[in-house]
Amino acid sequence: MAKSIPEPTTAEKRNARVILRRLRSRYPEMSTALEYASPWQLLVSTVLSAQTTDENVNKVVPSLFARFPTPSDLAMANPEEVEALVFSTGFYRQKTKSIIALSSDLVEFHDGEVPTELDELVKLRGVGRKTASVVLAEVWDIPAIAVDTHVNRVANRLGLTDSTDPEVIEQELKGLYLKKDWSGVSMRFIQFGREVCDARKPRCWDCPLRDRCAFEPKAVPVG
Ligand code: SF4
Repeated sequence: MAKSIPEPTTAEKRNARVILRRLRSRYPEMSTALEYASPWQLLVSTVLSAQTTDENVNKVVPSLFARFPTPSDLAMANPEEVEALVFSTGFYRQKTKSIIALSSDLVEFHDGEVPTELDELVKLRGVGRKTASVVLAEVWDIPAIAVDTHVNRVANRLGLTDSTDPEVIEQELKGLYLKKDWSGVSMRFIQFGREVCDARKPRCWDCPLRDRCAFEPKAVPVG
């Protein structure tokens, strides 16, 4: 059941927009580093990118898509063959199950085409809200906010939420930002989380959002 999220105050919205403005000036152009030639390929690559880098995924997908060029090819694939191809991305058994299942659902319910509605995307087996939001925002620029571990951490440290539930955080961020800005939020939070606001070693001394951040203790350079 959808949770009721309180309407943010004007001051909270203003603070959230200052944060986004600064991240925009640090990361003016944002798009995924995943390489893809179709919405389905991006969907598969996004599933494969869990717990690994986009670079790792980009190394394995050329062989995967050469061997299985369409959703129906992958839907009928031998799982062991797919596992061998995606092995180096980690969690290869679960990822194999997911990409075969989502391809099969696409063929069965959508004629092999990726739907453009969040509600339909998340019905595909193996596709969560985060994956669906990435694809919507990246391929069609459809307003969506994807909450992964980086977005979760950064939003909490910056006081934009006090929840750790991705769905609640997604709704809270959507309340803080204008719809037209949603697509740019996740990518910038993710990049900032990787480069500056690291989980274990945040670079607080070098952070453009230090004055907006309630996280304590602030990290200092070592040595
Ligand atoms: S000051 Fe430190 S904890 Fe706060 S947002 Fe910046 S890097 Fe993250």
